[in-house]
Amino acid sequence: MESICVYCGSSSGIRKEYSEGARLLGKELVRNKIQLVYGGSSTGLMGQISNEVLKSGGKVTGVIPKLLLLNEPPNQNLTKLIYVKNMSERKEKMSDLSDGFIALPGGLGTYEELFDTISWARLKIHKKPIGLLNIEHFFDPLLNMLENSCKEGFISKASLKFLFISSDPHKLINNIINYTPD
Ligand code: AMP
Repeated sequence: MESICVYCGSSSGIRKEYSEGARLLGKELVRNKIQLVYGGSSTGLMGQISNEVLKSGGKVTGVIPKLLLLNEPPNQNLTKLIYVKNMSERKEKMSDLSDGFIALPGGLGTYEELFDTISWARLKIHKKPIGLLNIEHFFDPLLNMLENSCKEGFISKASLKFLFISSDPHKLINNIINYTPD
């Protein structure tokens, strides 16, 4: 596993644990010699994780659409910054560059990217593992929603074998590294 794409908030959220978790994940990526691929922004959890990876001696590739440059200034210290035309191209590029995905707490952008990636995995458009870093139970409501869709017969649990959930970055990365697709 050479690189993991991380989806997370362009804001930091109201709890310090979100930023702490983002930084811990950054350290864990570097410990495992895994490069970070992300949306390129310098703000919020996106800024926290990218700075931590760089500080710990790791490599970071940012992928940012030109139209976002005003709202989300890019982290200027990245190993590589790739400019793309729009959001769709960004998602595709981030996915192409990564061997797996991890979502941290975030807002609409994070959900959009995460669900796109989950549904593409379910359709076998890619066969890469996906992890949720469940800091402070942030993803519990989303997990309940998925559980409900399983219970109500819209998703089969067996079709979500690529999805890993943990509040511990070390365990989450281990699960992702050891995943073998069918
Ligand atoms: P958020 O979780 O809303 O703070 O957004 C996290 C990142 O996702 C930011 O870099 C947003 O610009 C980005 N984003 C927002 N909407 C979309 C979208 N529709 N597709 C791809 N990325 C998005």
